[in-house]
Amino acid sequence: MTTLILDGKKIASETEAELTKRVNTLVEKNGGIKPILATILVGEDPASETYVKMKGNACRRIGMDSKLIKLSDKTTTEELMAVIQDLNDDGNVHGILLQHPVPSQIDERLCFDAIDLRKDVDGVTCLGFGRMSMSEEAYGSATPQGIMRLLEAFGIELQGKNAVVVGRSPILGKPMSMMLLNKNATVTICHSRTQNLPDIVRQADIIVGAVGVPELIKADWIKDGAVVVDAGYHPGGIGDIELDALNGKASAMTPVPGGVGPMTINTLIYQCVDAAEKHFA
Ligand code: NAP
Repeated sequence: MTTLILDGKKIASETEAELTKRVNTLVEKNGGIKPILATILVGEDPASETYVKMKGNACRRIGMDSKLIKLSDKTTTEELMAVIQDLNDDGNVHGILLQHPVPSQIDERLCFDAIDLRKDVDGVTCLGFGRMSMSEEAYGSATPQGIMRLLEAFGIELQGKNAVVVGRSPILGKPMSMMLLNKNATVTICHSRTQNLPDIVRQADIIVGAVGVPELIKADWIKDGAVVVDAGYHPGGIGDIELDALNGKASAMTPVPGGVGPMTINTLIYQCVDAAEKHFA
């Protein structure tokens, strides 16, 4: 079987060309004012610093501005809430990203939920999640929304398929499951207390690995012809699924790197352009 490679880098770069045109149009219409994504980084986590830098670079590539707010690792919940409130009130800011994770003294959920729904372009608020789950208008959590855009770009059929999502985090597994359900897949959600994980994975027409454990999901658990989506990324360029042995066995799969990662950042800027268009409309 020839395995279709779900090339996120390619789709992200094609989308950037389209977003650049949309941003140009907005800037022309609004006397040179550029859409702005505000990113908040709390503490010194090197991986988070890299992600925030990549997100800022993506904004610049399409002609948007980004504004980085760097806060110390001693920041309190109240201080972070005040920063978010200022950004909510700032008419020049169209999207807000609070980089996860924040230091443990901060109530991350409270801070996520303080983000104005119209600026929640990373899709992290409870209200946004609830609305998305109910198929109401809202920005989806960037990683699962990016996966849905990738599946759609490659014409992957979801209706009536058995989808197995391994992982139930608020930013990935849970919203992923709701998005697949909304596209009429039959969804099973697995987590660390799930029993007989290999047997459940064997039922999957579509398998999404979102566990954060290198190659936890083994190639021989996955049935021939399945669609394989790996959200994981670990040192050495491996994911949460044993991907190497699936080339030629899966009908389609995301590469690691170059599959889900580029689509996450792309979805963030895609949703920020949408928020800016709504703001200026
Ligand atoms: P997370 O918050 O740590 O959640 C991991 C989930 O996996 C939890 O629901 C956990 O279950 C479950 N799990 C852990 N060990 C398991 C096991 N042995 N069997 C079954 N389930 C298990 O991680 P996350 O933020 O969702 O991220 C998941 C992966 O996606 C990571 O590899 C991360 O690097 C990657 N990621 C990629 C992007 C991107 O842009 N490419 C963005 C975000 C995340 P419990 O709920 O029971 O603890």
